[in-house]
Amino acid sequence: MSLTILRSYALKEDPSTLPPTVLFSRDDHHLVVFDAFPKGIFHFLLLPRVQEPFSAADLSNLRSLLKCDRDSVKATLEQWKEDAKVVVKDIEDEMVSRYGFKWDIWVGFHAVPSMEHVHLHIVSSDLCSEKLKHKKHYNSFHPKLGFFLHLDEVLSWFESDSYFTTMAKLDKHKYEALLKEDLACWRCGSSQKNMPTLKAHLQTEFDDLAKKEKAKQERKRKFEEKQSASNDTEEEVSKKPKTTAGSDHEAEE
Ligand SMILES: [Zn+2]
Ligand SMILES: [Zn+2]
Repeated sequence: MSLTILRSYALKEDPSTLPPTVLFSRDDHHLVVFDAFPKGIFHFLLLPRVQEPFSAADLSNLRSLLKCDRDSVKATLEQWKEDAKVVVKDIEDEMVSRYGFKWDIWVGFHAVPSMEHVHLHIVSSDLCSEKLKHKKHYNSFHPKLGFFLHLDEVLSWFESDSYFTTMAKLDKHKYEALLKEDLACWRCGSSQKNMPTLKAHLQTEFDDLAKKEKAKQERKRKFEEKQSASNDTEEEVSKKPKTTAGSDHEAEE
């Protein structure tokens, strides 16, 4: 995959000409595309179209974008947050229809992106994908390691001037060092000696989660069944006339 392909999508005058295998959804200011190398069961990229007040250069990556007028950037990121919510909802619906339950979806940036043009990852937290092959792939999505910058976290940088200045530097060397950290499961913290063991572990984590969710739903279903059965009985009972005369009569017999 060319490193500038996202930029070429974002610059397309008519994004509807993109094939449906690439384009998931769009509006006047952004596109959502399928990640060509999904690192989870669901993985999309939200790309802003090149539009005022930003130039193509401003939109190169998060670091370049954060150098622009702060209020405009903040408003833009907040807009992306709303846009991403729509995608998250679509994914959740698909999770429920395909798997019978939904699980966490992460929305964020890579601190040091590998492709030109700023893009927001929207990825399901299973990280179960045959395309997840290397340690750096995994560590780049680990939700607590720091390389994956959750959108909400980036928005929190705007709350303090000095914090923003420090964080917005996005020092390449500092972040890239995180990709070399030892492998550990993001869910339970267990250390994993290599990618095959990590991948097998992530699959087990996901299968366990699916089992738990299904058991939870089964309990809920049974409870509701019981509940409606007892409601039916109550209704029947309340239909019978409750007169003291009646009970006296019964007592007499
Ligand atoms: Zn939009
Ligand atoms: Zn684990």
